[in-house]
Amino acid sequence: MKPRVVVLSGAGISAESGLKTFRADDGLWEEHKVEDVATPEAFARDPKLVLRFYNQRRRQVMAAEPNAAHRALSELEQDFQVNVVTQNIDDLHERGGSTSVVHLHGEILQMRSVLDDATLFSTQGEDIVLGDLAQDGGQLRPHVVWFGEAVPELEAAAEIVAQADVLLIVGTSLAVYPAASLMHFAPPHAKRYLVDPNAEALAVDGVEVFAEAASTGVPKLVQRLRQRRLP
Ligand code: NAD
Repeated sequence: MKPRVVVLSGAGISAESGLKTFRADDGLWEEHKVEDVATPEAFARDPKLVLRFYNQRRRQVMAAEPNAAHRALSELEQDFQVNVVTQNIDDLHERGGSTSVVHLHGEILQMRSVLDDATLFSTQGEDIVLGDLAQDGGQLRPHVVWFGEAVPELEAAAEIVAQADVLLIVGTSLAVYPAASLMHFAPPHAKRYLVDPNAEALAVDGVEVFAEAASTGVPKLVQRLRQRRLP
């Protein structure tokens, strides 16, 4: 049985693929306040703005390519069981070759009716506009989890983290709950690593820190894990 590596990834792993994180210095996400574009209240108030914002995000994701960090994680599968639990709504882990990816906050390439959060449809990469209806008559919206909404995959993700022999946290400010609480489900024996250029500021006890960009830090760590085949 191969040891299990669980990866908790956030916006930072996709930054070098050209997708902006949302906690950059200006506190804005792509020129918008988060509460204006990523809450159910924002969608009720100005659905056109919210749909346009996510249409832009979808186009950017489709134009982006996985970087060395995404690809290194898929190489890890040769020696380890690897589960990725990501806060990202992009599909760069999958395109980088990872075969087990849980999207805590949804997927921008999927959509659903406002009346039914369980049935998902592919957007086929197309924009969603006001008036696009699902078969149940509800307005279509992107399949993303907004602030204030439940995180349906949380329990499944916690169960995965609880089986980790190695926990690798990469590119997340650990500021968005409940996603940030997931690391605490790792068993005591699990070796913990954090790759983030801002890692020192995140100051997490018992975690070995690689204070550098994902595209260099993750391949370095992956190489180390593969050489030892042990945490
Ligand atoms: P965040 O913006 O709060 O934090 C990003 C972290 O990435 C920071 O700690 C930063 O220091 C780090 N970082 C920046 N550049 C990096 C690099 N090159 N390599 C490694 N780390 C780097 O992001 P979060 O914690 O993921 O929370 C953001 C929320 O926004 C999530 O809920 C997510 O759904 C959403 N989001 C997703 C995407 C995406 O899908 N690509 C992009 C932006 C925001």
